[in-house]
Amino acid sequence: MSVKKIDVKKPVLENGEHYVTSDYKTRGDRSSHNGMDMIGKNKSIDNIIAIDDGVVITSTYSTTAGYYVEIRHKNNYISRYLHMKKDSLKVKKGDNVQAGQLLGVMGNTGNSHGAHLHFAVYNEKRVPQDPLPYLLGELNLEANYFQEFVSLVQTALKAKVDGIPGPETLSKTITISEKENRKHEVVKYLQSYIYKLGYTEIGVSDGIAGPKFTKAVKHYQKDNGCVVDGIITKQNKTWKKLLKLL
Ligand SMILES: [Zn+2]
Repeated sequence: MSVKKIDVKKPVLENGEHYVTSDYKTRGDRSSHNGMDMIGKNKSIDNIIAIDDGVVITSTYSTTAGYYVEIRHKNNYISRYLHMKKDSLKVKKGDNVQAGQLLGVMGNTGNSHGAHLHFAVYNEKRVPQDPLPYLLGELNLEANYFQEFVSLVQTALKAKVDGIPGPETLSKTITISEKENRKHEVVKYLQSYIYKLGYTEIGVSDGIAGPKFTKAVKHYQKDNGCVVDGIITKQNKTWKKLLKLL
């Protein structure tokens, strides 16, 4: 078994040492693996702690996940902690937890071969996200990205700025593509927001709608029932979806 140590800013293992035994699907050799498997200090078992503040929405047993916990965070994303030791769960559904709070002990319950933590992050639609940027502190589970995004877009489009999208905001939206408004101020806010939604292929926010932008927008459109053309307009539903007006 090849293990890789990662330096995390937001630990999920109490002793703060995280060895990855099986990586998230896009980096690993198991394309269906929607989380990261980890072991702790001295490549051994450790206690499992919450990555961030939130509310426990699941604390139970299943034949596949074993003893496991799910936490809903401020941005409505969910972190999951699987295969914990029998009867080791320290939190129950409805509990408010803080970052670093003890959830249970690493174990080998459910569909697991050897004690480890399967750690996963899901968005509000239960689409798995790469957990690594959250562990590294590059993304966090606290911010209300949506409201922030809406306020920035409203400012850039000279709409009324209240963080709450409505018909007035929508009426001021403009078409963004590689051909139209590709360097408009709103592009960098779109890049940042789409990245935070988990479409990390969009890359850094350079304020220019290029091929990466088009690719990530197409991916977003596909997942959200929009016309898949890589162009953000009112007409193909993409602005409405981005502003949660649909
Ligand atoms: Zn796993």
